[in-house]
Amino acid sequence: MNEKKDNKNKKEKQKYALIAICLILVVGISVFALTLVNKNNNDEEKNMAYTDLIKEINEQTVEKLEMTVGSTSVKVKIKGEEEKTAIVPSTQAFIELVQEKVQEGNEIELIQKPKNIFLTIPSTFLSLLPTLMMLALLILIINMQGLGDKGKVYDGVENKSKVRFKDIAGLDEEKKELEEIVDFLKEPKRFYNMGAKIPKGILLYGKPGTGKTLIAKAIAGEAGVPFISMSGSEFIEMFAGLGASRVRKLFEKARKLAPCIVFIDEIDAIGSRRTSNSGAESENNQTLNQLLVEMDGFEDNETIIVLAATNRPEMLDKALLRPGRFDRQITIAPPDVRGREEILKIHSAEKKFASNVSLKSIAEDTAGYTGAELANILNESAIIATINGHEAIEQEDIEEAVKKVTVGVQKKTRVISDKEKKLTAYHEAGHAIVGKFLETSDPLKEISIIPRGIAGGYTMYKSNEDKFYKSKTELEERLVGLLGGRAAEKLALNDISTGARNDIQVATQIAKEMVTSYGMSERLGPISLEENENLAMFGESIEDVIGVEVKTLIDTAYKKAQEILKANMDKLEIVANLLLQKETITAEEFDEIFE
Ligand code: ATP
Repeated sequence: MNEKKDNKNKKEKQKYALIAICLILVVGISVFALTLVNKNNNDEEKNMAYTDLIKEINEQTVEKLEMTVGSTSVKVKIKGEEEKTAIVPSTQAFIELVQEKVQEGNEIELIQKPKNIFLTIPSTFLSLLPTLMMLALLILIINMQGLGDKGKVYDGVENKSKVRFKDIAGLDEEKKELEEIVDFLKEPKRFYNMGAKIPKGILLYGKPGTGKTLIAKAIAGEAGVPFISMSGSEFIEMFAGLGASRVRKLFEKARKLAPCIVFIDEIDAIGSRRTSNSGAESENNQTLNQLLVEMDGFEDNETIIVLAATNRPEMLDKALLRPGRFDRQITIAPPDVRGREEILKIHSAEKKFASNVSLKSIAEDTAGYTGAELANILNESAIIATINGHEAIEQEDIEEAVKKVTVGVQKKTRVISDKEKKLTAYHEAGHAIVGKFLETSDPLKEISIIPRGIAGGYTMYKSNEDKFYKSKTELEERLVGLLGGRAAEKLALNDISTGARNDIQVATQIAKEMVTSYGMSERLGPISLEENENLAMFGESIEDVIGVEVKTLIDTAYKKAQEILKANMDKLEIVANLLLQKETITAEEFDEIFE
């Protein structure tokens, strides 16, 4: 992921550098040209009229005339005066006139100089300036659109990606499934001779940071074939109509490099369901159609495997999933506790740890975290250890890093009024106390009123169990816990604050999903109402029912939170006061209050 970001940043920087250079050149040259033209104009102040020149010639006062071939301007030197410039209507006629006068005995020195091309540059440049600027703009657009060379190829000198399966922790079954792809890329003939058909496309489903790109690179690395990657969103950028041509270019490149891996990240950006033929959607359709055409058109001798990644499988057009296209789908789930420990091990290889560090306990504390987040935590902990002046990374550095990644950076210096502190203390105490009386709530880890990130305080839980499914009771209790903060503010201070914004957002989202995705509403039953087509089946009134059901879930949860707190007002006071006094209290200190 970082590598991808770095590449993107580099490209962005190059793009801006190019724009800056173009601008500087255009402005610089314009200023230069204008100065020269100005200079000529200033010279014209010393001009003399043509009639005056003829008069002076007739009066025999002119000493010298100097002309440049092809130019109508004449430098005139009159006896005892400064040199002046005159413009003649016809060069040829003027020269003949002067020569006549010389023959008549007029002593005029007539000098004819060859053309000086440098003097013509400014005016030529100025006349070409609009064309040049248009050209520069065109080149810039082409560059930004990537009509040139698209599709990054990580093939270096050895034509190889350096990632191997051993660099990916966990995901053992997934790796096993993909091993046959590696074999196929290594020896395609063996499979073809047997009459086997190998999938052309493999879809990887999974949250961001679960290692989808890493897997695609590892397949290329193991098989020793080039890896071409592009992101779905890169196909569709600022200007319309280019997506399809980019797909064509990408596959042209792949055909040249075959056998190879083509990796399309965020395929939902182009592969979402084809709809009406209007505007952006039609652009999207063309791009998707081109991708399907390319995949259908692979010849047997073209060993190209297309891997695509998405975290929104439900968005994809069904045509993508048909046989001969992305007919294999692999789900990349966030790692379980064992996987997390392995990922932490891989990413701790080059780091120095103190003897008190237990990767196992970090793995236990980070349920639901993706590989990318875990890698980030270890990197943050190395930074924190350095700042703290530790010899090696200590357990407390890692714990601080976990908090930094989850809740944000500690803002110790933020000035907080006593009133705000009190509000936060009741709010966080509310969450913790309500949580204590909910059967399915995770055990408490720490409560704090030290601001972190955008949060004024936080209540952290130990989540040492990996859950793939959640029951209705669990979700209902989650709502109660989330609303515990708001309920405490209201009960203790008889006022409510904006501090509950995030809790309310999360609670509303959960309640909505319970009703529309998980079929957990009594009134609506197990019907998926996520998609507009499904909603349309029931007519408009269904939306009112959804709204009522979501509200009922929230209202019930809020009432339950208030009930728990009303029965424990004395504890709420004690916990809030202890928080005001100590700022952070541990699970043990919290539990003592209840003993
Ligand atoms: P996105 O959808 O954002 O592109 P992704 O699923 O493609 O994310 P990657 O870019 O492959 O995720 O992973 C990001 C980083 O996380 C990797 O470079 C690696 O450092 C780390 N990582 C993720 N999963 C694993 C894993 N199973 N083992 C080791 N490292 C991992």
